[in-house]
Amino acid sequence: MRRTTGRNFLFVPGPTNVPDRVQRAMLVAMEDHRSSKFPDLSSSVLSDLKKVFKTTEGQVFIFPSSGTGAWEAALTNTLSPGDKILASRFGQFSHLWVDMAQRLDFDVEVLDVEWGEGVPLEQTEEILRADKNHQIKGILACHNETATGVTSDIAGLRKVMDAANHPALLFVDAVSSLASIDFCMDEWRVDLAVSGSQKGLMLPAGLGILAVSQKALKSMASAKSRRCYFDLADMISANKTGYFPYTPALPMLYGLREALDIIFEEGLEDIFARHHYFAQGVRAAVTQGWELELCAKSPKWYSDTVSAIMVPDGINGAHVIDVAFRRYNLALGAGLSKVAGKLFRIGHLGDLNELMLMGAIAGAEMAMLDVGVKVSPGSGVAAASNYWRSNDPIPKRKVSKEEQFYEAHSTGSVQG
Ligand SMILES: *Cc1c(COP(=O)(O)O)cnc(C)c1O
Repeated sequence: MRRTTGRNFLFVPGPTNVPDRVQRAMLVAMEDHRSSKFPDLSSSVLSDLKKVFKTTEGQVFIFPSSGTGAWEAALTNTLSPGDKILASRFGQFSHLWVDMAQRLDFDVEVLDVEWGEGVPLEQTEEILRADKNHQIKGILACHNETATGVTSDIAGLRKVMDAANHPALLFVDAVSSLASIDFCMDEWRVDLAVSGSQKGLMLPAGLGILAVSQKALKSMASAKSRRCYFDLADMISANKTGYFPYTPALPMLYGLREALDIIFEEGLEDIFARHHYFAQGVRAAVTQGWELELCAKSPKWYSDTVSAIMVPDGINGAHVIDVAFRRYNLALGAGLSKVAGKLFRIGHLGDLNELMLMGAIAGAEMAMLDVGVKVSPGSGVAAASNYWRSNDPIPKRKVSKEEQFYEAHSTGSVQG
């Protein structure tokens, strides 16, 4: 029997928790998407998404699809069949993008990297320098590999492309980094930035989001890949007046409007700092408390949105996940493909706070103990608590104001 009272603790790295405000904003009656009022909504979300990608030059597109659709839109609008692509692969998501590129008939040079590491900059630079005739037309990089909890250095990738003086288009998967880990489309000169609604944007799945540089928009003219539903040309002409070439997912757009408001109220830089602070607490639980290892091989790869936690030999990670779900109503992320059974994941992105994460840490700990992992009871919670209590990013000024309130309302005794 599965416990059904109380809340489900959703800690897969996507879909993430949808804030109540966003849920309410999506509870709308359907309306005419060709009305004179509709462009107010569409134009506002399209222009505000540019701020989230940190682009003023680029153009943002919203498809009623998931992130995978935006992967396809990025490739087919800018490349021709047979074009050479360089892609590094170090997890299930970078793998799936490679697989898509191969199925779309591109000539993909795959740089296989150990799972737990990210885009290999030196090797990439060597390959680009050797490509004197500029046969490579596109470089695919997964900014945050959700399957292994690894973040790659996209600024560094741009640097090696510049060092090699290589003109390829830079394609970046930002599905599980956007609005949670800093992403600078213009500064890094990313040409195609792919995202989706159900991760850092705190919405249900259902929108594929793509930001496209001016350079990439120009390449559409010569790109011969077949495209129809995902043709940016149709989108550009409809979006010009604030409309879509087909029926948009209206409640999702209202939800997106609210989510963007929430994001700007907190501020992007504070959001990134919060994600780092949460991630550090989770990592303290894993490495100091439980004395387990992360899949990410070294701190430079640590992801601030998801931690993939290796289970000891002889333990099946899927068993931990199943027990966590059935006994404690906690959803943890599974190990995918190559790492199936070897790890479980805690997503720490989106609408969260310390105590929600404490629930995930405590539940994972209980489930691990239940299936025979020798962690010390309470050790994960203690390590996270120590980290969060001594690294609270809330300015001390604000805390002291609340302390004044407390003192004014207490009877003088500060126990209890
Ligand atoms: C979730 C995710 C995707 C796929 O997104 P869908 O919305 O499921 O199509 C792609 N890349 C990464 C890195 C992801 O985390």
